[in-house]
Amino acid sequence: CKVELEALASVSARTSDGEAVHLLANIEGPEDVAAALHVGAAGIGLFRSEFLFMGRGADLPSEEGQYHAYRAVVQGMRGLPVTIRTIDIGADKPLDGASHPHADNPALGLRAIRWSLADPEAFRTQLRAILRAAAHGPVSVLFPMIGQLGEIHQVLAQLQLAREELAARADVAGIVRVGAMVEVPAAALLADEFFQYFDFLSIGTNDLIQYTLAIDRTDESVAYLYDPLHPAVLRLIARVIAAGVRSGKEVSVCGEMAGDVALAPLLLGLGLRHFSMQSAQIPLVKQRILRSDATALKEWAERVIAAPQPRLLMDSCPS
Ligand code: PEP
Ligand code: MG
Repeated sequence: CKVELEALASVSARTSDGEAVHLLANIEGPEDVAAALHVGAAGIGLFRSEFLFMGRGADLPSEEGQYHAYRAVVQGMRGLPVTIRTIDIGADKPLDGASHPHADNPALGLRAIRWSLADPEAFRTQLRAILRAAAHGPVSVLFPMIGQLGEIHQVLAQLQLAREELAARADVAGIVRVGAMVEVPAAALLADEFFQYFDFLSIGTNDLIQYTLAIDRTDESVAYLYDPLHPAVLRLIARVIAAGVRSGKEVSVCGEMAGDVALAPLLLGLGLRHFSMQSAQIPLVKQRILRSDATALKEWAERVIAAPQPRLLMDSCPS
């Protein structure tokens, strides 16, 4: 009931056999911080910064404007970690006022990190704002839709340059953890290599499903094929989590799968310990985690991902 769920805000998320789990919130701006705190989020796992840029016509936020928004979130979270994703514009999230050249396949075109790397000045404006906000609390910066090692080198070079620009202005930059989203199969297949450069990886299952199964996530006519339990999707997720365990680094899921109560036992069994979701889902997922036995789920999850039709094994979940 609602009262019981509200009481869970102060309960730490732990499986019945004692494994600590981090339940974080996805937000679109400072106005979402109160809801995240209300449900007891352990931090912000995904701040979709593009919402600061959308719906404003040609008037894009300046470095100062962005800095104020990021700082408001960091200060609002009172010392809890905040992960800010650089702008993920293009495809289903067009930017008013920007000239979007016609693309036959926008989801495969100039989107997310490709868009940022095509305009390094605007990219570094955002990076400087994030680095400045990081002086006020623990911040991670997250790069969307990385698929190539060449892009990794470019983003890290731009981050270094942004730092140098702040130093030249005698502006204070905080320390940031640096992560990449795993949203395309290429990134999942290269997770070990990605971990040589990044402190953490965050799996964007919304796009990972779209790009693995070649299903446009906005096209209703193929929505019936959009399947989080497709064995190819599950095996890619398992591969990234295993790479995280091997490297001793953090893997989170921040797509819709993380907030799906029915999928929580499977993700736990695969070894996931960081889930980021809409705030409203946090109490429900926490409730499910509290009655889950991670040890029992591990053996079951291995069988689920090896199965040709994982869905058929979902009812045999052991806890
Ligand atoms: C995702 O792709 O799963 C994700 C979290 O990013 P977005 O939904 O903003 O594309
Ligand atoms: Mg995405």
